[in-house]
Amino acid sequence: MKKSFLKKGIMVMTTAFMLAACSGNETQNANETSKPAEKPETGEVNLYTGRHYDTDDQLYKAFTEETGIKVNVIKGEEDELIERLSREGDATEGDLFFAADAGRLHWAKEKDLLQSVESETLDQNIPENLRDKDNQWYAMTKRARVIVYAKDRVNPEQLSTYEDLTDEKWKGKVLIRSSENVYNQSLLASFMELNGEEAAKEWAEGIVANMARDPKGGDTDQLKAVVAGEGDLAVMNTYYVGRLANSTNPEEVKLAEQVGVFFPNQDTNGTHVNISGIGVTKHAKNKENAVKFMEFLSSEEAQKLFAEGNNEYPANPDVESSELLKSWGEFKAQDIHLNILGERNADAVKLFNEVGWK
Ligand code: FE
Repeated sequence: MKKSFLKKGIMVMTTAFMLAACSGNETQNANETSKPAEKPETGEVNLYTGRHYDTDDQLYKAFTEETGIKVNVIKGEEDELIERLSREGDATEGDLFFAADAGRLHWAKEKDLLQSVESETLDQNIPENLRDKDNQWYAMTKRARVIVYAKDRVNPEQLSTYEDLTDEKWKGKVLIRSSENVYNQSLLASFMELNGEEAAKEWAEGIVANMARDPKGGDTDQLKAVVAGEGDLAVMNTYYVGRLANSTNPEEVKLAEQVGVFFPNQDTNGTHVNISGIGVTKHAKNKENAVKFMEFLSSEEAQKLFAEGNNEYPANPDVESSELLKSWGEFKAQDIHLNILGERNADAVKLFNEVGWK
């Protein structure tokens, strides 16, 4: 019963991809967000989410199907949602904060917007290095920030590290989005931690010097620009490649076929990995339902949806990655605590400004 529902879910998701026409636009329109019910009642949970993936709707539906608990979804940029939770204080209707970046989870915790959760299920399903030490948030998926290259112009043997992208030979060839984006902020924060501030600054400077164009668009737009020949290489998250590769739109599949995925820094300090994770808000009115929702997300059933639907790496080690991700092979990830991405965020933003990364 459950299985057939999931299969149907995946089919629906595929259709959603097609309809979404994959604009690569990742910002959510605030007008599209649904409001929580006026009066919180039992049998619902209010989710503030910075995730911008259509496939998440299938997760909510599956959860409601299984538990009868309705999920009211409020989408927005993570920073806006954190701001909103701060402003609303104990009057908030938000029960859960779901973010697509470890740095923002750390911030939410620092601002005292989350609370600790006790759950054997979560502790069993999510490894210790993928959760907050006080159990205020748990990662549900992982994503790698990789180098995507034009197969017809770049031999992967020419590729090695993030640092190498600053080499003269890539002048005018590198595509990467704006420094306002959290994925880039966390990437730079990781370099500051691993290589020191000076080296991180040199890297950012070098990338600015080698950019194919002023940063614009989301990760998917960088891939499209690689295919269009605006540049040869893009720095982007893995699941965006997966989304195109598994699209029902042949044009999108064709885009993905023209690029290769390269995991940088395999002989040095590893590829940058970020997580998407979730925590119960400090003033949650539906805490029990919120914890049930988190437990559901960590289950094999939901983790498979994350993996198959959005090509994210499951946080639950019992669940396999999608076939596509498996085909890219295993890789060595950076060995840093995820909190670092939040702790160093402000310095990373400052550094981006100093080097003129738009
Ligand atoms: Fe994303």
